Amino acid sequence: GKTDGKGQYRFFEASQSRLIQSRLQLKHRLLEAIELDQFVLYYQPRVDAFTGEVCSMEALVRWIHPQHGLVSPLEFIPMAETTGLILRIGEMVMEKACRQIDAWRRQGLPVVPVSINVSPKQFARGEVHRQLAVYLDRHQVPASLLEVEITESAMMGEQEDVLAELGAIRALGVKLHVDDFGTGYSSLSQLQKLKMDVLKVDRAFTSELGNSREGRVFFQAIVSMAHALGMSVVAEGVETAEQLCILQELGCNEVQGYYLARPMPAADIPAVLEQGLRS
Ligand code: C2E
Ligand code: CA
Ligand code: CA
Ligand code: CA
Repeated sequence: GKTDGKGQYRFFEASQSRLIQSRLQLKHRLLEAIELDQFVLYYQPRVDAFTGEVCSMEALVRWIHPQHGLVSPLEFIPMAETTGLILRIGEMVMEKACRQIDAWRRQGLPVVPVSINVSPKQFARGEVHRQLAVYLDRHQVPASLLEVEITESAMMGEQEDVLAELGAIRALGVKLHVDDFGTGYSSLSQLQKLKMDVLKVDRAFTSELGNSREGRVFFQAIVSMAHALGMSVVAEGVETAEQLCILQELGCNEVQGYYLARPMPAADIPAVLEQGLRS
């Protein structure tokens, strides 16, 4: 800044200007993308590990960039987080998901619950429950058809605020998923106190399933404790038949991953809802 000595300023400029320029550019482009509505939701079906039926889906945002095509959220969610643009993107995701569920319902499709991802910054605002209420109502979507995924780290704020917001979301009838479980530091008993409904075990643990006895034992322990505490378990990142088979034996409730289905555009979902995934 201006209070720094001249030499310091120059050093800063020389070493970081490129980075800052590209970050500023990304921020500018993201802002533009929001205004031009260049985002679309993909949907990844989840399957009941027991029956093989499609029982829910996860909405995953993509940016349709005019030059680069489909951009992964990994490329822009971190920047959206630091700039606060995630607040607008998050609300937009909520709106799009509700509008899509409504459209499928109007088509007479057997719609299953759709979960959306809520980022830490968005959650910390304490307004997710109010926004959910608005969009569910606007599109006449039953709360049972929309679910929310939150990471453990997002729930690390002031315990009272966290409890109040989670409680307000649940009071709407919206189920709560713990996303990427196992990558943070929360215990299952903490998560039960927060009344989380679903535990989504991070795909790092799924990928260990076929490799080692320990991986399997670890997963088994999570499943039995989660069940004992009244939570249901989803395994993410299921990529092989072997992993699926083990997860079925372990009593995991739902499975999600490339082995079953990749995230797909909304246009592909009606066939999945009507015919399932086995063709
Ligand atoms: P996530 O919430 O953990 O979502 C799962 C990610 O794993 C998705 O990546 C999905 O495509 C990918 N995936 C699914 N099955 C498999 C598999 O079998 N193997 C492997 N290797 N990957 C699999 P995607 O769509 O690129 O999203 C990445 C992350 O971006 C998400 O991770 C989530 O943290 C974030 N994200 C996506 N959409 C949103 C959103 O609407 N809001 C917010 N705040 N974050 C989002
Ligand atoms: Ca997720
Ligand atoms: Ca996840
Ligand atoms: Ca993840």
